[in-house]
Amino acid sequence: MLRRDFLKVISILGFSLIFKIKEVKAEKGGKTMAFVEYKPINFKEVRPQLWQMDGISQKTMDEHIKLYEGYVAKYNECMKLLENLSDEEYNKANATYSLIRSIKVDITRAIGGIKNHELYFGHLGGKGGKPEGKLLEQIERDFGSYDRFLKELKATAMAARGWAWVAYDYNFKRLFIAIGDEQNTFPIWNATPILGIDVFEHAYFIDYGTARAKYLEAFFNSVDWKVVEKSFESLKL
Ligand code: FE
Repeated sequence: MLRRDFLKVISILGFSLIFKIKEVKAEKGGKTMAFVEYKPINFKEVRPQLWQMDGISQKTMDEHIKLYEGYVAKYNECMKLLENLSDEEYNKANATYSLIRSIKVDITRAIGGIKNHELYFGHLGGKGGKPEGKLLEQIERDFGSYDRFLKELKATAMAARGWAWVAYDYNFKRLFIAIGDEQNTFPIWNATPILGIDVFEHAYFIDYGTARAKYLEAFFNSVDWKVVEKSFESLKL
């Protein structure tokens, strides 16, 4: 190989690569971004009981998992967009429309879609019944009785357009039943959800049509209270 050709190869393989890395770093203000692509949980592998429930069909689960994976894909897409946002786009930030506004708003739907579904799938596939131990004590303290808690939770789930959550609120030091009309609406700060009920139609329409109350019955017959108890105890209150 001629020396000239050798240098050409080096410049293609090495120098131009280094130049490109420098260029990207410069665009990001010289800082390396820390975004790591999020991988969806393989629920078929870690929670196969989701496909063996009485009141919620395998077809519903298959379709529901596809939606969850869609939220993961959109989260990764939004994060990549943010990571590569040009200075021109930063300077165009605007509250009516701008790319950064669009990403910042829409990524919250993707993040909600991930966290809500991981909570929901994580405690389904059980045998229903009633919570025990510290969780039951807390429920009785905050709601008077388990029946009173269940009444409020079921009514909240009927009144919601997307989600009903049971969350521990660290400021008020109590469990609170919250409503969500979307993956990203009405969250409350400084509270950790320990139970989530998906009441979007995709969660039950295949099995129950519009009869949401029947789906809620199936949910409470399939909830794994042991998982919810563990989530509550992991808060270390
Ligand atoms: Fe869902």
